[in-house]
Amino acid sequence: MRIINLLSAMLFCVVLTAQVKPKVVSTASMMYDMVNNIAGDAVDSRVIVPIGGDPHLYDPTPNDAILVNSADYIIINGLTFEGWILELIANSGTKAVVDTVTQGVTPIQSGKYSGAYDPHAWMDVSNGLIYIKNVRDGLIKLMPENKDIFEKNYQIYSERLQALDLYIENRIKEIPVQKRVLITSHDAFAYYGKRYGLRLEAIQGMSTEAEAQTSDIIRIVNVIKESRVPAVFIESTISPKLIQQIAKDNNVVIGGELFADSIGDEESGGNSYYDMLKKNTDTIVDALKGEKQGALKYKHESKSNWMLYTLIGLFFIVGIIVMVIKLK
Ligand SMILES: [Zn+2]
Repeated sequence: MRIINLLSAMLFCVVLTAQVKPKVVSTASMMYDMVNNIAGDAVDSRVIVPIGGDPHLYDPTPNDAILVNSADYIIINGLTFEGWILELIANSGTKAVVDTVTQGVTPIQSGKYSGAYDPHAWMDVSNGLIYIKNVRDGLIKLMPENKDIFEKNYQIYSERLQALDLYIENRIKEIPVQKRVLITSHDAFAYYGKRYGLRLEAIQGMSTEAEAQTSDIIRIVNVIKESRVPAVFIESTISPKLIQQIAKDNNVVIGGELFADSIGDEESGGNSYYDMLKKNTDTIVDALKGEKQGALKYKHESKSNWMLYTLIGLFFIVGIIVMVIKLK
């Protein structure tokens, strides 16, 4: 009897070791969250760029190479979002299957560079739905025995995202048409703007690598003046200094912090793909709707300009009078 117990205990241990979960490695937190939604705890889900990190500028560590080497399945965004990933994969010697979640997405061309595409496709929830379909398919290939669970989780998740898509569309409509202008640090919202009807203006380009030019700042200042938007926005993964300075100089408020290239931490209210887009939308709509505040500020500005011109005029007249008296 004892021997049988011992044998069954040993067998149990063998089964446990055999049941090591497949390791799924995502480059960025948006995809990491999608994997968690569909796979639940059936896989060992990991992310390379930590929450709050900037995937454009990420510098992989030796630990990342170890992680990628031990991965069974790697999920990347593609469209040159993670410029460092192919080298990391090659150098790690991994045998993992690598999938690009933007497969099937219609990419937006870069305005600045011909032949280059905008990587921020997840900002449009209809693209997010393509992402999660690709994640589901990849996970089913990895664990065909879990097909039913993954399908079911996908179905629930997909319905939530469809509702989110509609929510964003309706909330943006609350902003007066001429104020549907989104001014941010870097050009991450083109897909969002295209889908939901916002004009986009960013100081930097589609990657955070390039430094902002004086001409970019002049362009943004002109947009603020023309559109009379009451607010500009900072991004959670980018230094807010420049945007804060522009806001101060132009008498507009900081509308809030937006999540672009990463989900937020647990206290941020944007700790998932779903929450980051919902929170962004609420932040944008609430700030751009702030008509009274904006109008007040502009009134104040034009009043101070008027006083300045009157003063200059008075000095001019006094100067002429003094000159005339002296000439006499
Ligand atoms: Zn970006």
